[in-house]
Formats: sequence, C-alpha cells, structure tokens
Amino acid sequence: MIRINNVLVSEGKGGVYGEKMMDGYRVWDPYRSKFAALAMKRKDIDLPPESVVLYLGAANGTTVSHVADYVDTVYAVEFAPRPMQDLMAVSERRKNIVPIMGDAGRPSEYAMLTEPADILYQDVAQPDQTGIAIKNLPLLKDGGILILMLKTRSVDVTRSAKEVFEASILELEAGGLVVEDTLWLEPYHHDHACIICRKKEISG
Ligand code: SAM
Repeated sequence: MIRINNVLVSEGKGGVYGEKMMDGYRVWDPYRSKFAALAMKRKDIDLPPESVVLYLGAANGTTVSHVADYVDTVYAVEFAPRPMQDLMAVSERRKNIVPIMGDAGRPSEYAMLTEPADILYQDVAQPDQTGIAIKNLPLLKDGGILILMLKTRSVDVTRSAKEVFEASILELEAGGLVVEDTLWLEPYHHDHACIICRKKEISG
C-alpha cells in the first residue's frame, strides 16, 4: 500500500467523489472507507497488483475506486439502484471495474459475469453477513482471502457486539474458512469488526 507521511493514498485519476489529492495521489480516508481503516490498522495488509477482487456491497464505488487503483480487476456487486448509478459512473472512469447489479445473497445469478477471485471483500451490512460470505466462497480461489467487514448492529441489535462477533467467527470456521486475523475498526468505524480468513486449499 502507498503511504505518504502515514496518509494512505492510491494512484489514479482524481475527482471520483471529491477526494483530496496529495502529491498527485488520491487520499484514501479511513473514516470514509472500512478498507482504508483496515490498512491504517494493519500495515501489512496488501492489494497485490495482479489480484482479482470480488467486492460485495459496492455502494457508490468510493472504496471500489481506490481498490481498483491497486489491483488488476474489481467485480463490484451492488443491489440498490441509486448507488448503482454512481457505481456505473465510477466504472466508466476506470477500465478495471466491472459493475454488477445483483444480490450478494444469490451468487449463482452473477457467477457467470466474474472470474475466480483472489480476494473476496464483503461490506453489505446485513443480518446474514456470514451466510452471504459463505455462499460466495465458490467464487473465491482455494487459498484466497476473505475480508469481511462485520457491522455487528446490523446482525443482531439484541446481542452484544462481542457475542455477534464470536458467533460469526464460529460460522465462518464451520463454513470451511481459516480465520487468520480479527480486529475492530475503532476509532474509524464504530461497532465494525474486520475478520480476515483464508479459504482452505483443496489438496490432491
Ligand atoms: N463498501 C462501501 C464503501 O466502502 O464505499 C460501503 C457499503 S455500504 C456499508 C453497504 C452496501 O451494501 C449498500 O450500498 C447496500 O445497498 C449494499 N447491499 C446490502 N445488501 C446487499 C446485497 N444482498 N447484495 C448487494 N448489495 C447489498
């Protein structure tokens, strides 16, 4: 990841959503983007240039546009019409974003539009976040990485954030993932945990 004086940036044409520029780079604000918050808290997190990313919950494409500055291709899934319009406009300015209007809970409906992903990024803020992630695992390469941004209040307001978080970890492990790292996104985003998992390699 590129940092200038500890400010996270990405390399690409600016003016996508009014982002600031610094020395010709696009400033990637951790208060606006959960991925940027993760990158501020985990300095070893990487978006390798050859990677293919399947991004679930693309919204209006602000984080997607920064991810696309780093990687080869981003398949960006969003189901709400209004943010989808903005995402389409962002995609027109980047050659490596494939916008997909679809429900992340129904991956069979968009699987044919994607290619096997190295990184599955999920930020849908829905009650069944872990279930949605598990349903999309067939689209992730063996050994690939899942980055799940878990909004605990969206999952269950009646349980504590810690309880929701711990139950989600168990569900992901039962779904065939190895949890490699977990963190809370404070102070950038409240009640948001990030869970990083690896899909098991199928041997033989
Ligand atoms: N990742 C975005 C960013 O950093 O700019 C913010 C995502 S916002 C928290 C969650 C988005 O997920 C919303 O735009 C919402 O419409 C979308 N979403 C929620 N459930 C979805 C689903 N089942 N399929 C596709 N998109 C979904």
